[in-house]
Amino acid sequence: MNNFDKTAYWQDIDQAHHIHPFTDTADLNNRGTRVITSAKGVFIEDSNGKRYLDGMAGLWCVNIGYGRKELAEAAYKQMLELPYYNNFFQCANTPAIELSKVLAEITPEGLNHVFYANSGSEANDTVVRMVHQYWNLKGKPERTHIISRKNAYHGSTVAGASLGGMSGMHAQGGSLLRDVVHIDQPYWYGEGGDHTPEEFGLLTARKLEEKIEELGADRVGAFIGEPIQGAGGVIIPPSTYWPEIQRICKKYDILLIADEVICGFGRTGNWFGSETFDIKPDLMPMAKGMSSGYLPISAVMVGERVADVLINQCGEFTHGFTYSGHPAAAAVALENIRIMRDEKMVERVRDDIGPYFRKQLDTLKDHPLAGAVETVGLIAGMPLVDDKKTRKAFDKPGTVGTICRDACVANGVISRACGDRMVLSPPLCITHDEVDELVKRLRAALDDTAKKIG
Ligand code: PLP
Repeated sequence: MNNFDKTAYWQDIDQAHHIHPFTDTADLNNRGTRVITSAKGVFIEDSNGKRYLDGMAGLWCVNIGYGRKELAEAAYKQMLELPYYNNFFQCANTPAIELSKVLAEITPEGLNHVFYANSGSEANDTVVRMVHQYWNLKGKPERTHIISRKNAYHGSTVAGASLGGMSGMHAQGGSLLRDVVHIDQPYWYGEGGDHTPEEFGLLTARKLEEKIEELGADRVGAFIGEPIQGAGGVIIPPSTYWPEIQRICKKYDILLIADEVICGFGRTGNWFGSETFDIKPDLMPMAKGMSSGYLPISAVMVGERVADVLINQCGEFTHGFTYSGHPAAAAVALENIRIMRDEKMVERVRDDIGPYFRKQLDTLKDHPLAGAVETVGLIAGMPLVDDKKTRKAFDKPGTVGTICRDACVANGVISRACGDRMVLSPPLCITHDEVDELVKRLRAALDDTAKKIG
């Protein structure tokens, strides 16, 4: 079979049997699935042999880049030695034990305990159960509410979708958690009006205080936020936001959860977004970059305050997954972190490739569609707007973004449209030349988009 016959073969089977995540599958079946068959470095290749520069590192996860043999070898070796054993009932496997030590070393001070799961969503489910059990054991079981933000993303399970503030998901989910409430997001570019970013950061942070007062502090258990909202469109909060959020959490004695599923493992130029924004979380869910997506694994880092209660006052914590701390996934995560440390990948994002990425993306600011270019480390958001001067959005949100996303694909670069915000999060191993290439292809996609919308 030639490549095109093979593609048709896979597309037919896919159409017959596969319901895709976050996809209008009927629409996809009309277009035909893009079948990705191989990858190396920052490039992926489809079944027709077309190569794309992956500006998204898969789903914000392939931090060390594609094709690292060391990770495949770590999985292979571990699978031969001990392919599976659980961490339940007085047992543990050695990769999970070793990984716990390494995670305690690289995560911010005070986070010394870890609970394993398999996905970001499961990590956030775990967080909800920990928050509830913590307050139960503190004799305050009525502190059930968790405050989150509109347009946040925390996963797809019932707890994840409830914590998230995605209106499209809430519209489809009948049975979300009752005690999760959402306040405004710190999205200055789109919602800040005439305020300065600093004023708007304070205003949106104080929505937390208003919500706590409205519910009653004795009914609020925790606040959850991504240091930078990823799937919401790379919403980088103004500098005043996180200090104010932390002041309020302290004042009302509520737990602070930093969801590091995207920001973690070097993305922002530090190991964790919490370091970049000086956040001191009590609980820190993380996933994706932990294994660079080579195998599924996630975890919740638990600070002393919660760990002390869960370990010393709880008895059995009745929570866990068959694959919590899976030995092969843990071995891959260990190898991934070893490579990131040895090759000083995080330092490189902070001091070299991150600043270069920003400088080169900034050249797109002259494009009539590009309202702004907002970056931290190797994560970027670019709102496409109707009027740059007034920051006016397009009338039908998401339409121009989708056109631009498709134009990116046509030009051989993967970017994602979150509404009309184009977002990027390339593998951390991206070179200077590849950044140039990414920006060149993005400009071509912006030009094609401008032509298409007339
Ligand atoms: N939290 C954040 C911040 C995320 O971006 C995601 C996924 O994109 C999740 C949680 C959910 O992770 P998963 O898709 O692995 O369940």
